[in-house]
Amino acid sequence: MAALKSVIQKRLSSPATVTEVEDLSPRVRRIRLSGPPVKGIRWRPGDKIKLAAGPRLRSYTPARVDATAGWMDVVFFLHGGGAASAWASAAEVGDTVGFIGPARSMSVPEAAPDWALFLGDETTIGLAAACLETLPETAAVLGAIELSADDAGALPAFGLPLRPAIRAERHGEALLAWLAETTLPSGQGIAWLSGEADSVMALKSALLARGMDRAALKVKPYWSTRGHAHRKALQKQL
Ligand SMILES: Cc1cc2nc3c(=O)[nH]c(=O)nc-3n(C[C@H](O)[C@H](O)[C@H](O)COP(=O)(O)OP(=O)(O)OC[C@H]3O[C@@H](n4cnc5c(N)ncnc54)[C@H](O)[C@@H]3O)c2cc1C
Repeated sequence: MAALKSVIQKRLSSPATVTEVEDLSPRVRRIRLSGPPVKGIRWRPGDKIKLAAGPRLRSYTPARVDATAGWMDVVFFLHGGGAASAWASAAEVGDTVGFIGPARSMSVPEAAPDWALFLGDETTIGLAAACLETLPETAAVLGAIELSADDAGALPAFGLPLRPAIRAERHGEALLAWLAETTLPSGQGIAWLSGEADSVMALKSALLARGMDRAALKVKPYWSTRGHAHRKALQKQL
């Protein structure tokens, strides 16, 4: 454990400073991290960072980055059950935090698609915002973010042109229902699927059953109701 801590310490950036905190909805918060460790950062949309928010490292997806000015915005879901969520809930301007990365997580297509589909939960807002920026204006954008009715305002507040899918009893049900009712456009499409692990896998199966090309699916379980080991096991199957 001590050896692992020392490896983490060596890879951590110098602390970035919280310079903005914006509540997009009751449980969705945008936090801007600024300062020398963000200046000149090499970042591509879809990259992740690992935040040392609390005793462990947790993955997050920068939503918007200005490497010249030296800031990045991260959208946190304040789920209330873990150290990173607790850190984000308590964060105030002037707080500091170290991070590792950015590193590749979700890729963006080299060829411009005719349409792009985003499906995920609150943890996907940052990824969707970042990847949207890479799409040509000609690409049709569709998709839904599963969240509670209280948090639906986070999507327009962050300027994300995706539908809210109000969470039912089980994670993923609302997204599967949205997908079942949605006609996918014609032409070459791409889909980004992220969020709760079992939901992501169910959405992937549903899209394959609808005839989507496996190579056009960008899939990443972000967390699991059944714990980190389950999430990692599913990720290995991809
Ligand atoms: C590549 C990648 C990118 C990610 N990007 C983002 C991002 O931009 N924004 C974001 O908010 N999250 C993001 N996540 C998800 C985030 O890393 C997890 O939610 C993480 O578990 C949060 O850590 P924690 O310390 O708060 O909770 P943990 O200590 O990991 O978990 C504690 C408990 O909370 C539960 N839990 C964890 N996450 C959630 C959740 N989202 N909803 C409900 N219960 C939960 C767990 O099942 C567990 O029971 C990303 C994950 C990955 C792998």
